[in-house]
Amino acid sequence: MKRTLIVGNWKMNLNTQQASVLVHRLNKHIEEHRDIEVVLAPSLLTLQPISLQIDRRKFRLAAQDAFYVDEGAYTGEVSFTMLRGLVHYALVGHSERRIHLGETLEVVRDKVQAAIRNGISPILCVGETKQERAAGETKRVIHDQLTTALANLTPEEVEEVVIAYEPVWAITSFGGDRPAKPDEIQSAIRWIRHIIGELYGEKLATELRVIYGASVDAEFVEGILSLEGVDGLLPGTASLNYHKFADIVAAAHRTLQKAGQNG
Ligand code: PEP
Repeated sequence: MKRTLIVGNWKMNLNTQQASVLVHRLNKHIEEHRDIEVVLAPSLLTLQPISLQIDRRKFRLAAQDAFYVDEGAYTGEVSFTMLRGLVHYALVGHSERRIHLGETLEVVRDKVQAAIRNGISPILCVGETKQERAAGETKRVIHDQLTTALANLTPEEVEEVVIAYEPVWAITSFGGDRPAKPDEIQSAIRWIRHIIGELYGEKLATELRVIYGASVDAEFVEGILSLEGVDGLLPGTASLNYHKFADIVAAAHRTLQKAGQNG
């Protein structure tokens, strides 16, 4: 059984003390559910202390990024090798890194490979900008981001990857104020699975975890998770508020319970 994945991306927010307060509240307010895997992605600075504070029955950790070389003269960087054992996952190719920090398709590819090499599952973020959508380029953009990022992996390695469809125009930091519409999410996620199917076969296309992110709040959870082939959510802004994040997890659990009863 695939567990539904909910990944809170805290972005560049919360110092060590603030992060500790949030974790304290999350430990208290989020319940353990067998069908849901909750992942926190704090800043690199706070990963280590948070790893000691989280209730490990409820939470796993993700890095928001790391460097693609394992060790050496790269002042200021932290490698996936250094994160081994500390995190299960790492976001790779988030649009804020692609757009604000100039991460190219090739850099994202090298980071995906470095994560896998170090036993960390990459959460590969893909998605089109507003201009690209308006120009009818959504499918091409997703195709290019996906195929380049996975280029150096074996099919067994691709199994470890999680794909996050995050339409840039719907992300709060890029001016989004609500998630993409269900039919937009559905068609992008179908397209992602279609590309994986062409490259690696139907089995992997079905089994690969594909999640949705951008402006997720509890009110949208049922609508999104009920879509076929959506295996989880990646809230950003809402994950900084323990009430909202706990509501998202609770709404996801209710949705899964309901689906189980109906099907
Ligand atoms: C994100 O940037 O990963 C994200 C989903 O942000 P938000 O929920 O704030 O749109």
